[in-house]
Amino acid sequence: MTRISTIENDPAGGKALPALSRTEPDRNCPLCPRLKGFREEARQREPDWFNSPVPSFGDPDGRLLIVGLAPGLQGANRTGRPFTGDFAGDLLYATLLEYGFARGVYQARPDDGLTLVDCRISNAVRCVPPQNKPLPAEINTCRPFLSATIGTMPRLRAVVALGRVAHESALKALGLRSGAAPFAHGAVHQAGALKLYDSYHCSRYNTNTRVLTPDMFRSVFARVRADLR
Ligand code: SF4
Repeated sequence: MTRISTIENDPAGGKALPALSRTEPDRNCPLCPRLKGFREEARQREPDWFNSPVPSFGDPDGRLLIVGLAPGLQGANRTGRPFTGDFAGDLLYATLLEYGFARGVYQARPDDGLTLVDCRISNAVRCVPPQNKPLPAEINTCRPFLSATIGTMPRLRAVVALGRVAHESALKALGLRSGAAPFAHGAVHQAGALKLYDSYHCSRYNTNTRVLTPDMFRSVFARVRADLR
């Protein structure tokens, strides 16, 4: 049985949500110089790729928000849709389809017609970082876009954080102390009307090393599905 920890600071009570700002950065967002440079190199090398901050995907009226780490170089950074085009998307979208949070057929292309149902996907960091590793300053700099995304979801009830970085950034975006709810795969943290669900990231590395099995991943979304009946 999943233990639910309760976070005392209640974002839904209007106490601590950060001030709202824009949900989507400019295509040429200059706020993280290292990531801007990496993006511009990728534009030179691969002019047909998206190579820009990747916008959120899905329904702003959804009750579920999934927060990933950052675009993968040949995944979302290439295609322009979160988790689209690399292994992480194969497992994520198969799972969302299985639990009714997506409709259609995932074909790893942004024009595959897949739609999300009651669900939105975003990333803690919107630009692709070298080696999939954003720096702490970059995570902090990009957080206002995540905060704004959360702030523009009036029906939000569930946040699934994929990995520790997404967990920490989501906590802070909700206006909560980072130590308020330690990350653990399968943990559920109650924060007022919201629940924050933790999962290991569905990366190829985590699945190849069996840190995360498809069943472990499915169990997180089974729990969300049961709670959002
Ligand atoms: S990671 Fe976020 S804040 Fe940093 S440059 Fe990209 S969009 Fe701007």
